[in-house]
Amino acid sequence: MRRVLVLGSTGSIGKQTLDVACRLPHRLQIVGLATYRDYKALSNQATSLGVRIVGLIEPPPNASIAGLTLYAGVEGLCAMAQRADVDIVVVALGGAIALQPTLAALEAGKTVALATKEVLVAAGEVVMRTARQYDAPLLPIDSEHSGAFQAMLAGKREQVARLILTASGGPFRTRSLDTFNAITVEEALKHPNWDMGAKITVDSATMMNKGLEVIEAQHLFGLELEQVEVLIHPQSIVHALVEFVDGSVIGQLSLPDMRLPIQYALLYPDRVDIALPRLRLEQVGALSFETPDPARYPCLELAYAAARVGGTMTTVLNAANEVAVRAFLKHQIRFTDIPRLVEQVMAAHAPQPATLENALAADRWAREYLQKSLPTHAL
Ligand code: MG
Repeated sequence: MRRVLVLGSTGSIGKQTLDVACRLPHRLQIVGLATYRDYKALSNQATSLGVRIVGLIEPPPNASIAGLTLYAGVEGLCAMAQRADVDIVVVALGGAIALQPTLAALEAGKTVALATKEVLVAAGEVVMRTARQYDAPLLPIDSEHSGAFQAMLAGKREQVARLILTASGGPFRTRSLDTFNAITVEEALKHPNWDMGAKITVDSATMMNKGLEVIEAQHLFGLELEQVEVLIHPQSIVHALVEFVDGSVIGQLSLPDMRLPIQYALLYPDRVDIALPRLRLEQVGALSFETPDPARYPCLELAYAAARVGGTMTTVLNAANEVAVRAFLKHQIRFTDIPRLVEQVMAAHAPQPATLENALAADRWAREYLQKSLPTHAL
């Protein structure tokens, strides 16, 4: 029995993690749940699963539930992640706020199943160093990285020549470029293939999501930036392709359903049938691939540029993007302002080496810097 703590249990990945655990009652036991501030949803989950340990980053005043142990704040989530009765920590909180709980889990030698890619973009070197130092397994839940992880088992790590991450291209893959200024929040939230949270759905539309994933892959698999490429694949069936030095390409295919990478990370190296819908290629028909157009997806270029600089520049890329996307979702800025603002913050940043202190300071600086220049009212 593996005892699982879910950080971010009320979000899309968190809910699907609980679904997977409910299908495997003899293999997985949910022992703790945490979220940002949705106290009501959290206590409902705890009641229905019989969980006694809960955490909130921002607990409401006087929050307490009879019979529950409540952990509060980022420090509280760090303490939860280090509990002796936890084997696996699922990190599925939105954004770089998950960095310290992830580090706390790794320092306690826990297995971390990581959905929050922002953690590796904000401080990838620190996270990977910590995982090695404490011999703590770090398994990706991100579908492309889960696919890459699985495909890489076909050879030795040093024999990997190239990793190709696929991207759906989002809802604006074929939209006329001169109408991008008019893109609404509602349009950006309509993803063609995946049902996800609001932030990652907007990131998919700008393709910042794929840029963050390139950086995530670089750290997870110890690859050079030039070895990680992106192809648009509108069907979202092939999640990643690994090319080995001999030219052989191994891919991972499945229907776009996050429960598969979640299950793989939670049960690794085991595989079991939890009755998920099966891929029938004859029903999919054609699989197509194309190179992303930089004019359509400037955020992807910004991510590569930040990764080339390295250090705290990727921290700043991520923090600026988190603030810009939130402002877009609140109708304060246009869709096309997202890359413009991220680029502005990057240009104003003097990058520092990737230590935890530098990353936390750069993250704070970028958020404050951009917040000051945002309009306070909706457009
Ligand atoms: Mg992904």
